[in-house]
Amino acid sequence: MNVINPATGNQIETYEDEDITEAKAALDTATDAFDSWRTRPLREREELLSDVADILGERKQKYAELMTREMGKPISQAKAEVEKCEWLCNHYAEHADAYLADEYHPSPAGSAVKTSYEPLGTVLAVMPWNFPFWQVFRFAAPYLTAGNVGILKHASNVPGCALAIEEIFRDAGYPEGVFQSLLLPSSSVEDLLADDRVKAATLTGSGPAGRAIASTAGEHLKKTVLELGGSDPFVVLDDADLDAAAETGAWARNQNGGQSCIAGKRFIVHDAIYDEFIDRLIDEFDALTVGDPMDEDTDVGPQARADLMEELHEQVTESVDAGATVELGGEPLDREGAFYPPTILTDVPEGCPADAEELFGPVASVYRVADEEDAITKANDTEFGLGASIWTEDRERGERLTHEIDAGCVYVNQLVKSDPRVPFGGVKESGYGRELSEIGIQEFVNRKTIWVE
Ligand code: NDP
Repeated sequence: MNVINPATGNQIETYEDEDITEAKAALDTATDAFDSWRTRPLREREELLSDVADILGERKQKYAELMTREMGKPISQAKAEVEKCEWLCNHYAEHADAYLADEYHPSPAGSAVKTSYEPLGTVLAVMPWNFPFWQVFRFAAPYLTAGNVGILKHASNVPGCALAIEEIFRDAGYPEGVFQSLLLPSSSVEDLLADDRVKAATLTGSGPAGRAIASTAGEHLKKTVLELGGSDPFVVLDDADLDAAAETGAWARNQNGGQSCIAGKRFIVHDAIYDEFIDRLIDEFDALTVGDPMDEDTDVGPQARADLMEELHEQVTESVDAGATVELGGEPLDREGAFYPPTILTDVPEGCPADAEELFGPVASVYRVADEEDAITKANDTEFGLGASIWTEDRERGERLTHEIDAGCVYVNQLVKSDPRVPFGGVKESGYGRELSEIGIQEFVNRKTIWVE
């Protein structure tokens, strides 16, 4: 695996990748580790997770720089990502015992009936490069604390992050085999997932990768959680606070170089305030600092890989050929590295890539709609259903409209964001299952019914 720094195009590191034989050996180790890990008191598993949080806090700068080098995330956002992982670990260290406590049910006199949450075994996690720490901790913190063991197959462009995360669990004192990173090509995942010793799988990534995992898992009757793409609507109604909507919208679309499944991607704007809003949005996009991701003042770094940037530009070009208007940006920057500028498209025709596909970069599609009803119709006019954001000064109106949008989460006067305390996941082609909160930790457990007469 050759790691290329996307800000410079230079190779920074080479790693030997592993093969299926090594992966199967890791599975032996994981299976052995599960036998004792599952019986370890939950309180001790929580304490170890709290030690992981401490390590993340102590080594924040080091891990942030690693992410920035491997996938180009601006350093300030990389540090925020490490902090968020620390928060997540502290959250489950504090709450896992309550989330997994036995639940008693009404029962006939003389009997005791409850649900008990028991771990499944080895969980395979296939993870992407866009939040190379957060996506991994989002699975590892809850599932390991529930008593499972984990095998990570991380994206091929962030092997340093994969090994660093393994190091964190080792240094925190986790027994050998409880968390392992494999530098495995995606072509080996099917074989690994088919192995009887893998009990469940979780994937965050694209639709094709999700389908591949789901079909193998289905064949072998294994539970999966899939967190796939999104094309979230960002709906601005006639009574919205336009300054706040434009400022937050620019951040929602451009943070992490626009490479986020829950980025606001389709801006759906009420006719009555369209002209005022679009001017503000263009100003906000234009004011973002694009440049060296190691610079603390950079807002938008490079795209994570040159091929992904080319794909993004093809989607923009095809959309413009179909009739879209470029209001800002629209061309790769003429400099070294995979830099694409914040871009705004209007007059986006139905069915072109900017309308129908996920644009995984800093490109916003903006639509003018006649009224609230049209706004909701357009918001739902997508194969995805991850998140949505609605802007209105009328909180009751906002709350009412949340129920009309087909998505896993809807935020009013706020950008869509994940939070350890609340469930996260999608509907439609955005996947299924939920991560985070008590619902997330209960995804990969045996909810065992126990009836004692
Ligand atoms: P992928 O979905 O291809 O990669 C995500 C993870 O899945 C990686 O670990 C990858 O491994 C693995 N993978 C890929 N194909 C398979 C397969 N057939 N079986 C098992 N594992 C597989 O994303 P890309 O990096 O190629 O990005 C392409 C697009 O995916 C983006 O432009 C974006 O639209 C979407 N995406 C969505 C994300 C999200 O957060 N929902 C995150 C990342 C991407 P390897 O790296 O070795 O190929």
